[in-house]
Amino acid sequence: LQGYVGFANLPNQVHRKSVKKGFHFTVMIVGESGLGKSTLVNTLFGTTLYPHKGDAEPSDETPTTVEIQSLSADIEENGVKLRLTVVDTPGFGDFVNNEESWKPILENIEARFDAYLEQENRVNRRKMVDNRVHACIYFIAPTGHSLKPLDVEFMRRLHTKVNLIPVIAKSDTLTEDEIKQFKQRILDDIAYHKILIYQAPQYEYDDHETVAENREIISKIPFAIVGSDKEVELSDGRRVRGRKYPWGVIEVDNEEHNDFVKLRQMLIRTHMEELKEYTNDVLYENYRSEKLVTMGV
Ligand code: GDP
Ligand code: MG
Repeated sequence: LQGYVGFANLPNQVHRKSVKKGFHFTVMIVGESGLGKSTLVNTLFGTTLYPHKGDAEPSDETPTTVEIQSLSADIEENGVKLRLTVVDTPGFGDFVNNEESWKPILENIEARFDAYLEQENRVNRRKMVDNRVHACIYFIAPTGHSLKPLDVEFMRRLHTKVNLIPVIAKSDTLTEDEIKQFKQRILDDIAYHKILIYQAPQYEYDDHETVAENREIISKIPFAIVGSDKEVELSDGRRVRGRKYPWGVIEVDNEEHNDFVKLRQMLIRTHMEELKEYTNDVLYENYRSEKLVTMGV
C-alpha cells in the first residue's frame, strides 16, 4: 500500500495532543451521485474501513431519502491508535424533488451536537466520545460553469454548522485552464452568496516552512481532485493509483496532476487539530447557546 494516511508524519506537537485526547476525527462527504464520493473514501483510507458500530447496515432496498453511512478505520502506527470516521451520504440530490436534500444531513450533524451536549451535562464527563463532524467535503460537479442551485442551497444551510471544504470532483475531466477558471468562478459564487467555507488560520509564529506549506494548501481550495482505488501501470513499469487514458495516466498521488494530496494533508496533517477546535469552539458553541436560549435556560 502506498502512504495512505501518513499520520506518522504528523507534526510532533499535534501528534502528542491527539494521543493524549484520544484521536477521533470525523469527515462527512456530500455531493450528487456518481461524482466519486465512495471512490474518494477508499482512496483516502484504503481498504481499512469497516461499518461504524451503532449505525444501520446498508440495505438493498431503494432508499427514498438521503442515507447516512459511517465507516471507520482504526489505524495504528508506532504504537499510537487513531480512529478516523468517514460519513458518506448516498442519495443526496438524487430525487425528483431535491429542495430538502440538505435537511437529513443538517439533522444528522445536529444530532451529533445533541449527543455531545448530553454527555457534557452528565455528572461523569471523563469518558466523552466526540462524534461531531469536524469537516464536510462537498463535491462540485466538474461542469466548468458555476455552482448549481442545489450546491448553493446546501452550503447556505450548513455553513454555520460544519467546516465546509468544497472540492471539484473528477477533475481529470477538465483541462488545467478549465480548472483554473472554474475554481475562480466557484470562489466568486461562494462570495456572492455569502457562503462561509472553512478559512484556515495563518499563524505568524509558525516557522517559514509551515507558513509556506499552509499557504500552498489554502491556495488550492476548492481542491480539484481525482480518485481511484485501482492501480495502473506507467510506461516505466511502476504501478501507481490512477486513471488511465489513451494519452497517459493521471496519478492520484502526484501533486502535479491534482490536489488530492493537498486535501489529505490538510485533513490529516496540517489542519486536523484546527478543524476540531473550530468545530468545538465556534460551531458547536453557537449551536449550544442557541439551543439553551430556545429552551429558556
Ligand atoms: P458516488 O456515487 O459519489 O459514491 O460515486 P462513485 O465513487 O461510486 O463513482 C462513480 C463513478 O465515477 C465510478 O465509475 C468511478 O470509478 C468514477 N470515478 C470516481 N472518481 C473519479 C474521478 O476522480 N475521475 C473520474 N474520471 N471518474 C471517477
Ligand atoms: Mg457512493
